[in-house]
Amino acid sequence: MNIILLGPPGAGKGTQAARLVEKRNMVQLSTGDMLRAARTSGTEMGNMVAAVMDRGDLVTDEIVIGLIREQLESDQGKGGYIFDGFPRTLAQADALGNLLVEMGENLDAVIELQVDDDVLVERIVGRAKEAEAAGQPVRADDNEESLRVRLMAYYKQTSPLIGYYHAKGDLQSVDGLASMDDVATSIASALRKSE
Ligand code: AMP
Repeated sequence: MNIILLGPPGAGKGTQAARLVEKRNMVQLSTGDMLRAARTSGTEMGNMVAAVMDRGDLVTDEIVIGLIREQLESDQGKGGYIFDGFPRTLAQADALGNLLVEMGENLDAVIELQVDDDVLVERIVGRAKEAEAAGQPVRADDNEESLRVRLMAYYKQTSPLIGYYHAKGDLQSVDGLASMDDVATSIASALRKSE
């Protein structure tokens, strides 16, 4: 089955995707991870991507759709994808729909993780502090200034996808404020309904 995890930065998409990979043997496709890999390439494109990401803005649809297309083409046949942090715009959602049709695959569910903003700020600033304390690299966009831009990008460009997928009958919302285990349980029961 192929699913999308939808939600603002800090909602827990990456954490829950990692659990689904472990439990269901699915393939996680995170455009954020792909872009973090691309930015270290030292190319002009990589540098441009780095500047946009650090500011907290969205990278162009063209770049992101290209990355997803490449992954889907190289992985073809595996199936069982978790789209994490993609799509983030209506154009990306349309492109994903078309790519899946081309591959003869379905989109089985879109899981929205609902969380409120105060918690997001706490989680993200906390994530940066924890990484720092553990001597791990801190994401350049995990600071309050970039986070404000990331949240605005979510509300302006990504949240319309909630209506889009609701209208298609694909949307299921879960409480992202619950504990990690409880969120995982809610996702599992949402997925059972789509199987
Ligand atoms: P994430 O790791 O999903 O929080 O993504 C980190 C950053 O990468 C975002 O703030 C954007 O700058 C960029 N990014 C990730 N996924 C996308 C996407 N689907 N469309 C545009 N930009 C993206």
